[in-house]
Amino acid sequence: MISVDEALGHLFSLTSPLEVETVPLIEAAGRVLAQPVRAGRNQPPFSASAMDGYAIIGDEADLHAQFKVIGESAAGHGFDGTVKPGTTVRIFTGAPVPEGATHVVIQEDVERRGDLITITAPQDGHNIRALGNDFRVGDAVDAPCLLSPEDVALLAAMNFAEVPVTRRPVVALISTGDELVMPGETPGPDQIIASNTFGLHALLSKLGAEPRLLPIARDNRDSLETTFKLAEGADLIVTIGGASVGDHDLVGDVAEAMGMERAFYKIAMRPGKPLMAGRMGDAVMVGLPGNPVSAMVCGHIFLAPMIRAFLGLGTAPTPARTARLTRAMGPNGPRQHYQRALVDGNAITVFNRQDSSLLSVLSRANALAISPPHAEEMPEGSDIAYIPF
Ligand code: AMP
Ligand code: MG
Repeated sequence: MISVDEALGHLFSLTSPLEVETVPLIEAAGRVLAQPVRAGRNQPPFSASAMDGYAIIGDEADLHAQFKVIGESAAGHGFDGTVKPGTTVRIFTGAPVPEGATHVVIQEDVERRGDLITITAPQDGHNIRALGNDFRVGDAVDAPCLLSPEDVALLAAMNFAEVPVTRRPVVALISTGDELVMPGETPGPDQIIASNTFGLHALLSKLGAEPRLLPIARDNRDSLETTFKLAEGADLIVTIGGASVGDHDLVGDVAEAMGMERAFYKIAMRPGKPLMAGRMGDAVMVGLPGNPVSAMVCGHIFLAPMIRAFLGLGTAPTPARTARLTRAMGPNGPRQHYQRALVDGNAITVFNRQDSSLLSVLSRANALAISPPHAEEMPEGSDIAYIPF
């Protein structure tokens, strides 16, 4: 048996960052910036007023000082002239500060009569945003960077209408099994509904991949072969089920007959069976166990880091956090155990029922508590690592 980290290492060796494509900024959120981009302008591009008020020479900002209003500077419409001693320009937030002025008196600190203003409160702070106060020409947004809505706002301010991002990995999802029908169909008496592919589809979308749900492959060679052919063009082919040693578990055989260099990794983890992986043409193929919880856990532990690697976000395991056990936990066996749990603040409650077929328990969980191989018994209040959903 190999460790989860070793298995991930094998999967990473099959995975490399995808090529760069350009997308309109409006589609950039959630994408990975592939190359650093640099601002071609300063923000603000001129020294700008931070408030509505009156622009004056700072040395003259004394209580009761009076000024003559000689013009106006509004956002988008600056004032052409110069502010000279004893004069002021009515100014609004975001408007260019006129030449000569170094201070904006907020309108609440002013009494105005006709063209004359009087400062009615002591001044501190100039209420001016210096040119380039936010960013300057040449300032970079570094890559790789998973673009947040906030990053998109910054890129827009820098005047990028499009940005270079890593192409989304296309993931073909194949359910296998004679017992499966699609949600919404009427199952026969011996049938169940395919659930894993839908869970994985949602997970992969959230990770920034482009999942494609293929038709369910039946437990025969023809059907599997046909379905594999439909996966053409995918970067990653994920099969679910049919990968153990049962009579009807043909996925490995068929994939191999179609040119896959098969590797089996018997991984010291629970839940999860041996994982199948290999190169299949231009794609990477990963065979996941069929049990619904195992498939989803493997999605979090193996597929998520692979997607990040495809996106150029490096090769690291899914990051873990720690929380305090609300109940004592028994010692662990030889396999790393990922238990369904509920994290609330700093407290983590591990559910009693951990059978790998229980989607209802998985759905109530918001975390996987991680017990390393051979971990000793942990008393209530111990810190334990977990992966949040
Ligand atoms: P297998 O690995 O094909 O033997 O499947 C193990 C278990 O997982 C069986 O009980 C299957 O019915 C179930 N299973 C396999 N694939 C799916 C799927 N896509 N959705 C829900 N259950 C599945
Ligand atoms: Mg099966």
